[in-house]
Amino acid sequence: MRLTCLGTGSPESHAERASSGYLLEVAGQRLLLDCGGGVVSRLIEAGFRPADVDHVLFSHLHSDHMMDYARLVHAHWDEGGQTEERVLQVTGPAPIATITQRLFGDQGAFAFDLTARCELQGSKDVWVARGGQLPRPWPKPQVQEVQPGIKLEGPGWRLTSCSVPHAQPHLTCMALRLESDDGKSLVYSGDAALCPELEALAEGADLLLHWCYRHDEEDAPAFIRRMSPTPSEIGAMAKRIGVRHLALTHFRSAVDEADGLLQRMRSAGQAAFGGPVTMASDLLAIDI
Ligand SMILES: [Zn+2]
Repeated sequence: MRLTCLGTGSPESHAERASSGYLLEVAGQRLLLDCGGGVVSRLIEAGFRPADVDHVLFSHLHSDHMMDYARLVHAHWDEGGQTEERVLQVTGPAPIATITQRLFGDQGAFAFDLTARCELQGSKDVWVARGGQLPRPWPKPQVQEVQPGIKLEGPGWRLTSCSVPHAQPHLTCMALRLESDDGKSLVYSGDAALCPELEALAEGADLLLHWCYRHDEEDAPAFIRRMSPTPSEIGAMAKRIGVRHLALTHFRSAVDEADGLLQRMRSAGQAAFGGPVTMASDLLAIDI
């Protein structure tokens, strides 16, 4: 298993951090966990093409976790990732099917573009020259809407999940646990408050990739304190449940702008965890 961090930022614009997205290579498959703004560019910078992605898994549908979804689906299709034998798999909470339909359906936002690409003679010529066949089908990602608690099996991997408190009741929010057949495990918190369900899901994980929106030195309103654990709170939780390696991510611009803050956050997490703590950055790869 290899995790490549493609987007380790927040919704804020940030030159060094795209919004949330992580590529997991497992058993020859390429799974993309979330697809926030800037993630597709990072995917390309990491040496992959959108067409290389087999499966997109969403933790939740906040914009910073799905803003590049349209770009990914379109490029996956336009660059030949979709064939008669292979379509892009998409798994996430509702309303991902509605969103997909509103982007790529007959009346979707891209219907005008897709009509032009599939019907204009010049576009058809380009498609055939690239090895495509006519008539050209539209993008048809295979979308599966799931509830937290879903268990799923792919070729060489298994997914389990749980609900995590974050943006309910407006959005369904999940943490994801991916396990490979050779016994390695990654747990991705998505955006999550501390909760018993996540502790159960992440128990003994080889790598816990946990969002970290808040640091220990800042004061915050009660709601944000409850919903956004600090490095020391996350580290203490990771220690309680026997995680082997903790990676923190989803950083705001202010974290990078304040002198030495990122390092102090890492130290706080490490002091509470007692094990290795990695501060994620875009294009950082971690072997699991
Ligand atoms: Zn969120």
